[in-house]
Amino acid sequence: MRSSSNKTAALCIAAACIAFILFFLSVLPGDEGTGPAYGAVSEADYLRGKFDPVKHPLFVKVEAFGIPCDRPHYLRKEAAEALAKMYAAMKKDIPNVKFWVQSSTRNWDVQKRIWELRWRELTSGKKKMGDREIAARILRSSAMPGTSRHHWGADFDINILRNAYYDSGDGRKIYAWLKVNAGRFGFCQPYTAGRKDGYMEERWHWSYLPLAEVFQRRWNTHFRTETGAVIKDGGFPGADAAIEAAPVYVNSINPACGKAASE
Ligand SMILES: [Zn+2]
Repeated sequence: MRSSSNKTAALCIAAACIAFILFFLSVLPGDEGTGPAYGAVSEADYLRGKFDPVKHPLFVKVEAFGIPCDRPHYLRKEAAEALAKMYAAMKKDIPNVKFWVQSSTRNWDVQKRIWELRWRELTSGKKKMGDREIAARILRSSAMPGTSRHHWGADFDINILRNAYYDSGDGRKIYAWLKVNAGRFGFCQPYTAGRKDGYMEERWHWSYLPLAEVFQRRWNTHFRTETGAVIKDGGFPGADAAIEAAPVYVNSINPACGKAASE
């Protein structure tokens, strides 16, 4: 009797150990074997931005890490920690410039509102355009819902959303500093000048590669050849005409920001 209850206890401990190890492996970000953690959201839904970053346990409030923000912003914890380190280094090197986070994680609903607003602007004018043409215009600067790097919690925009701002004053100092130093902290500018396809140059958009590279690769696994799956439970204006272009926009990034596009 005694030895059988000892046996049962030993088995329970072994089972608990295995469960703990499995749990630990499941929360390791970017691990090739297990993939990054997504919380209670499925991988495909996470990558399409179908979750609320405010309530997601793997997201943190960026401001809590001492990083200036223009309003509450949320990022994956690893990205916020790396950004805090980068911000501290930047403050040492260029102490008098003003740096702030201007946009961060945007889920499907937020991206859909942005898309719909642009769609209304372009369809309310005199010029009549087909869905494909309207979508192509919006896609110069805004992503379709389900296809934005902003869904993933590793990307954010800084200061001013205008390239010319980074030609002089604080903008110039920040951009010059980031170009030299961001890589040391894991950050990269995905939308550089001179790319053949995709969104226009965005000097304000930065990406935390240890996470974003994995998310981009996983997005491709789910949607690159199955673009219809992005809008399987509802689309947005022009979705049927535009969604097949999604992989081009997701993958036309600065080659220095990873090899995910070519895999
Ligand atoms: Zn951005």
